[in-house]
Amino acid sequence: MTSVKFGTPERFEITLGWLKDREPRELGPAHSGWSSGELKISVGGHVLTLHKRNGKDRESVQWYLLPVFEWLADQWMSLFHEERFAWHENSSASAAISAFMATRRLIAADDELGREQYRAVQSWWFRHALRAADSSALYPDLYFRRLGNDIELSWTARQPVHAPDGFRYCLTPGTATVAVGEVVGPLWQALNWFVDSASVVEAADRHALAQLRLKLDHLNSASAPEIERYYLPQRLFARISRAKEKIGLSTESTRHPTAPAIAFMDNAVLMFGGASPDICEDDVESLLSFLLSRSGMQESPALAQLVDTTIGAPIAAPFEEGYELANALIEQLDLLDGRSFVDIAGILSDLEIEQIEQALVTDSIRGVAVAGMQFAPAILVNTTSQFNQTEAGRRFTLAHELFHILYDRARARCVTHTSGPWASPGVEKRANAFADMLLMPHELVSKYLTAFDMDGITSAAKRMRVGRSALIEHLYNLNEIDEMQREILRNG
Ligand SMILES: [Zn+2]
Repeated sequence: MTSVKFGTPERFEITLGWLKDREPRELGPAHSGWSSGELKISVGGHVLTLHKRNGKDRESVQWYLLPVFEWLADQWMSLFHEERFAWHENSSASAAISAFMATRRLIAADDELGREQYRAVQSWWFRHALRAADSSALYPDLYFRRLGNDIELSWTARQPVHAPDGFRYCLTPGTATVAVGEVVGPLWQALNWFVDSASVVEAADRHALAQLRLKLDHLNSASAPEIERYYLPQRLFARISRAKEKIGLSTESTRHPTAPAIAFMDNAVLMFGGASPDICEDDVESLLSFLLSRSGMQESPALAQLVDTTIGAPIAAPFEEGYELANALIEQLDLLDGRSFVDIAGILSDLEIEQIEQALVTDSIRGVAVAGMQFAPAILVNTTSQFNQTEAGRRFTLAHELFHILYDRARARCVTHTSGPWASPGVEKRANAFADMLLMPHELVSKYLTAFDMDGITSAAKRMRVGRSALIEHLYNLNEIDEMQREILRNG
């Protein structure tokens, strides 16, 4: 058997080959019985299809290939463009873990709302999980999901439900994020290889193959604006399109050179990745005008020097990553120069990041950060948000948004991020941890917190210009106080 490979195993690779049928056509499945082949998938150097069968290691799954390619073609747009989950996700877990947990949480729902949510989870699963392609095949539990200008590939160690005796996957759960093109390029080639190299004899099989070819042609004819809409809920996308037209913002999404997919998503569209689907027309316009007002300018060399585009998505430990980056920045900028607090406004003005206070209609947006190659950097603080009612709260929002500006730049080297409960939880937790550590660094805490009682907390918080409850939570996260002490201080 000769096999073909698309992609690179260190990022994403799919290896395929046709197998000779051992059985006559009429004994195979009616629809796909002609398409015996083998499939191997590698991600980040791991062979995800590696399994044991009767004591032997095998790298490929051998099965009928038609269903997996039909699924790939049918789900293509959602698979590589839909970022949001169909449920409210609080954890920073990958799609593979989140979808599993959401299913487990809702499977026994006995009220109408719960059942509706369960159906939404199931249909999301169907659009993103490889196992949805063919329940009779023994594929690994692999998920594809858009993440800004990346694709998140995540998998669990769960065995296939109908695995025969002696069949076992030897995986540990994992996640990798790779550039969009590194996944869609190879998969598009694989789809085309499948339809071009298949040999069919029966009329019905020829028909199935012709249908698949039609689907590919249809996908391939989609323009960038037609594809980018899959990134957001339909209603929200329509609102953004209208507002963009009104204020004269054109679409800047870039299509992959060969595959029908958006390699780089329009910054204006990315901006609403963290916004409520119900954000009103006025706010959409306000945010887009804010973006437009910053475009066509440069960031300062001082800021450019601090930006790190290698940080990537928060995969392992959002808290630790946030703390580490804050500590490094404190040292690098020598922020503790004898003052009792960290002067976040001063840092921003040194870096020429403008701070804009604006009252949006929606209170679920805390702040918005815009920065990057085509933008003059700025932070919008939404004065309607509960968090921004105090000076301490506004300082925290500025520090949080500074994180996005420095470390959450997409592959396009820009960031247009909206912060709030609709933004990706891992991304938000990491920026929050950064803000905590930046405004309450070890050195200041140990200097000003002389007693772990209410008076001590109040006085230290005042000197550091942070909220009292923020300091209590910070001390708990740093293991300086236990749950009991936190409870007492919270109620004090
Ligand atoms: Zn944020």
